[in-house]
Amino acid sequence: MVEPGLATGAALAAMRDAVRPGITTLELDAIAEDAIRSRGGAPNFMLEPGYRHTICANVNEHVVHAIPTGRPLEPGDIVALDAGAVVDGWHGDAAFTAVLPDPARPDRTTAIEKLGDVTEQAMWRGIARLATASHLGEVGEAVSAYVRANSDFGVLEDYIGHGIGRSMHEDPPVFNVPVHRRGPEVKPGLVVAIEPIISAGGIDTVVEDDDWTVTIADGSMSAQWEHSVAVHRDGIWVLTAEDGGASGLAPLGITPVPIP
Ligand code: MG
Repeated sequence: MVEPGLATGAALAAMRDAVRPGITTLELDAIAEDAIRSRGGAPNFMLEPGYRHTICANVNEHVVHAIPTGRPLEPGDIVALDAGAVVDGWHGDAAFTAVLPDPARPDRTTAIEKLGDVTEQAMWRGIARLATASHLGEVGEAVSAYVRANSDFGVLEDYIGHGIGRSMHEDPPVFNVPVHRRGPEVKPGLVVAIEPIISAGGIDTVVEDDDWTVTIADGSMSAQWEHSVAVHRDGIWVLTAEDGGASGLAPLGITPVPIP
């Protein structure tokens, strides 16, 4: 799963370089597709029946599964860009949130920067916990504890992480909040997408008339970060990060280990 992880990471890196006011999410979609195909992969979101794009582009109150559009991004937007690649039948899946500062609205800029930062750091807390967890349920405890301690944001419960491998979405579910079950044992061979989705307000969601785009019901802004992470006999490795997650995990005292 190293190759699809790197192809997915390349798509995210290319979008991170390109995202700015004035670009459309359809243009970012094309950039992500080029990055994946140039690494010998194929966009796996297109394998979902009826979905024709490489990415989901979730702007502001759009929270997941939003279809790319021709609307240029604007200062003050917060956009979660989610992409995945398949190589030789194996899958990768990752997302990041870009914040476009608006100098004319410093309060909004501060608010969306905090939402993006808390979501990213919640993801790294979840990944770090996976490195030492006995059961998968600990990931959701770590994610939600970080969000609760650092904000009054809401952790979505309708959309969660997942196992990944021969399919993009597999068992086991990866919750972002504590649940009654401890979840499966964390052991070598487990590969999961850890993806907290955070709302600045309420956590209830609605599906729009296009049957894809999911919006926060009260119109709050939202953010999503995601990585696909492998547990192997020597440690964990973040498959969709070029450095295996080293820079994100270093402040948390975790050193990812390349897959032998
Ligand atoms: Mg996912």
